[in-house]
Amino acid sequence: MRRADVLIIGGGLTGLAFNYFLRKAGYAVLIVEARGRLGGRIWTKTTGEAVNIEMGATWLGQKHTHLVQLLNELNLPVFQQRLGASALFEQQHQMPVQSIPLPPNNDPSYRIKGGTSALIKALARHLPDEAMLLDTPVEKVHAKADGVYTFSGASTIKSKVVVSTLPPHLLSHCIELQPTLPDALTRLMQQTHTWMGESIKAGVAYDQPFWRENGQTGTAFSQTGPFTELYDHTDAEEGHFALKGFLRNDMANLSAPDRKRLVEGQLLKLFGQPALEFTSYEEAVWAKEPFTYAPYERTIIPHQNNGHEMYRKPYWNGRLFLAGSETADAFPGYMEGAVRSAEWVYQALSQSTVL
Ligand SMILES: Cc1cc2nc3c(=O)[nH]c(=O)nc-3n(C[C@H](O)[C@H](O)[C@H](O)COP(=O)(O)OP(=O)(O)OC[C@H]3O[C@@H](n4cnc5c(N)ncnc54)[C@H](O)[C@@H]3O)c2cc1C
Repeated sequence: MRRADVLIIGGGLTGLAFNYFLRKAGYAVLIVEARGRLGGRIWTKTTGEAVNIEMGATWLGQKHTHLVQLLNELNLPVFQQRLGASALFEQQHQMPVQSIPLPPNNDPSYRIKGGTSALIKALARHLPDEAMLLDTPVEKVHAKADGVYTFSGASTIKSKVVVSTLPPHLLSHCIELQPTLPDALTRLMQQTHTWMGESIKAGVAYDQPFWRENGQTGTAFSQTGPFTELYDHTDAEEGHFALKGFLRNDMANLSAPDRKRLVEGQLLKLFGQPALEFTSYEEAVWAKEPFTYAPYERTIIPHQNNGHEMYRKPYWNGRLFLAGSETADAFPGYMEGAVRSAEWVYQALSQSTVL
């Protein structure tokens, strides 16, 4: 049986940032991650040489002060998202594409140089291999008199404290907790939306930014889809050229080849024949990712219940904490919320007497 002072369930941004803070303070930490990769909703797809496309979190702003501070501490530069002065606009299927002017952008968005996964990689450098279990979905967590026992398949881990960094709704759906949590908290978790859980990202990589040669910015908005928004996704070094955006959520019901066919049709309409000469098509349908999304019993309004006071105290006499971006009291659902959540749980645990 493995042992740790603190067991963190989930190796996304919250789990890795929390590990980073704990290790600086000298605690023995173990991260248990269901997927075969770290990062969770942060996932820069780097298939081969030519592809570097964000399937998850991409943008941050200067207002995300805790994230910016962490990036500075880890020496990770950012660069501004290109938007340009105009965008293509598709109003209806039968109507031609229009070019519309964009207003000056007084609150630009930034991307992390090297991709958002550069943040995950930098944090993972503070996580020794022996302190991380990948491909290990937690199924049960049981608190007993002598410690907390976490179960995944045939593995059991005993720790003094367990910190879940799962989106609360996912936690309520997939992990059996004993003793059970208060009913009001369970209901709250069931009614806390997982930010971006239904979204679909798609991107197309190119050898050259052909749209710029045609005087276009790569920015496009559509009321028809499948892309609803599209942006120039070229990297900071101008070494990987791509267009990337969001597809309509209902495209999740199509097969992957059907989705791709519709994307190609829209790219052709927006940008013409060169748009079909892509070197790679990448997509992520987050509603099909069981370690991010679980179906809701009823429609949940995004951001309701985030940062609720029930998320901001420990359970099981200080042995169970609920963290994760959705539990943060500011910028919940975003990377900033994940960093703030990690800071909060680190401070709460540092002040407790269980370690
Ligand atoms: C398409 C998309 C676009 C986004 N765009 C932006 C953006 O531009 N800017 C921004 O700030 N934010 C954005 N976000 C949100 C951002 O990605 C999240 O706020 C942040 O990554 C959340 O980190 P987290 O660690 O709290 O949660 P997660 O990343 O969800 O981490 C939870 C971890 O737990 C693991 N896990 C799940 N179940 C189990 C289990 N049973 N056992 C063990 N491990 C388990 C998961 O695999 C995952 O690694 C976007 C998200 C998506 C999906």
